[in-house]
Amino acid sequence: MNHCIFCKIINGELPAHRVYEDEQVLAFMDISPINHGHVLIIPKVHYSELRSIPLATSIAVWKVVKKVEYAIWQTPDLVCDGTNILQNNGAAAGQEVFHAHFHVIPRREGDGSRFGFKTVNSSDQVRKDWAAKIKDQIDAA
Ligand code: 5GP
Ligand code: ZN
Repeated sequence: MNHCIFCKIINGELPAHRVYEDEQVLAFMDISPINHGHVLIIPKVHYSELRSIPLATSIAVWKVVKKVEYAIWQTPDLVCDGTNILQNNGAAAGQEVFHAHFHVIPRREGDGSRFGFKTVNSSDQVRKDWAAKIKDQIDAA
């Protein structure tokens, strides 16, 4: 039994306002939009986080992110001065629905939404050390 709400949307067990779908990907309106026109893009197969999605599927999802982001700029009356592409992985990063998804969020001048990011202190040496460690993982993959 799959209790995932996004899987239920894919299966038609829960309603959603769909804007695009193909064999691998579904795009639909967020139920609690940050701005009008806030769209979610998901793979039709359940993967909980970005790193679980096979590369070919990720590419299919990303194509739809691009398609939706472009459409949002073109949509009459939407008043889009900018967009954010947001993708949360893990509760620590604010993920609430554990079916991997991208948010495409239209932004308006002065809309007052802000991400609550802080920065950490980091010297050039610290950034160099982290670069080397991350690069090791990329090279090992
Ligand atoms: P997360 O915090 O996991 O990145 O974002 C989850 C998003 O899913 C939120 O923006 C939330 O409003 C949206 N959401 C949660 N439940 C539903 C639902 O049942 N239908 C739709 N369309 N969106 C949902
Ligand atoms: Zn799911």
